[in-house]
Amino acid sequence: MAMIYERVALIGLGLIASSMAHAMKAKGLAGEIVGYARSAETRAAALEIGFCDRVEPSAAKAVAGADLVVLAVPVGAMGAIAEEIGPHLAPGATVTDVGSVKQAVIAAVAPHMPEGVHFIAGHPIAGTEHSGPHSGFATLFQNRWWLLTPEGADVGAVARLRALYEGFGAKVDEMDAAHHDLVLAVTSHTPHLIAYTMVGVADDLSRVTDSEVINYSAAGFRDFTRIAASDPTMWRDVFLTNKEATLDILGRFTEELFALQRAIRLGDGDHLHAYFTRTRAIRRGII
Ligand code: NAD
Repeated sequence: MAMIYERVALIGLGLIASSMAHAMKAKGLAGEIVGYARSAETRAAALEIGFCDRVEPSAAKAVAGADLVVLAVPVGAMGAIAEEIGPHLAPGATVTDVGSVKQAVIAAVAPHMPEGVHFIAGHPIAGTEHSGPHSGFATLFQNRWWLLTPEGADVGAVARLRALYEGFGAKVDEMDAAHHDLVLAVTSHTPHLIAYTMVGVADDLSRVTDSEVINYSAAGFRDFTRIAASDPTMWRDVFLTNKEATLDILGRFTEELFALQRAIRLGDGDHLHAYFTRTRAIRRGII
């Protein structure tokens, strides 16, 4: 595949950034990949694993001369990084992010972008419960959606970023940032909160031992524990920054849960059967 960016600067070198770097290297989509992470250990790992060609001890140095800058830190850290790199961005560069929430990131980053720099917010709908520079792999984004919320950004710059992500094997779509945050509150943020809660409940039960939970966990609970092992900083920031939409969806969720609780107490089998029939039809419509 043809090279799309000559120099890419990755700010934060965890799961998403390292997977992007592996994918760029595998497909020859970038000339040089420069990395910045706060810890010297992570920077050394990026060089040793080989997904960065060069690392820098400051974000400002890493972005110098880059035609693409990717902010791949937790959502709550995006604003401070944007402020730091703003004066050092090359004219005409594209800056994007991979944060799980879009309105808060745009509000934190956009004010620090100088005239002539294209800021295009984005979010890959792909991930695992692992984090850090060792967790990345080139096929993470294959056949997964990558949502962009470009809000009037330059059409040519958006097309170029889209080509990079399509080069990873991702499917790219554009939407409004507020709509993105609502959709993700339904499909990702609230389910994560429910998984955290379920694992917390199992841990609190004194009448069920930990080994019973581990030995007899059916697929449902195992999936919850996998999701609940996700990075605590990343998820703290998601709920702090997508507050309105997650509270909206959580309110609806608890209403439905109370209705099911009532049906169980009353022995209302018709209600339970009708509800489960509806949800099964939804699942069959998705796949
Ligand atoms: P990660 O924990 O693997 O990597 C995060 C990187 O940011 C690390 O290098 C860490 O040292 C650095 N970092 C943390 N706090 C920082 C700070 N205050 N200042 C500077 N650097 C800091 O996380 P990840 O999974 O790669 O997530 C990165 C971004 O991608 C997050 O915004 C997250 O919301 C988003 N995202 C994650 C997933 C997922 O499933 N993991 C999926 C899609 C998007």
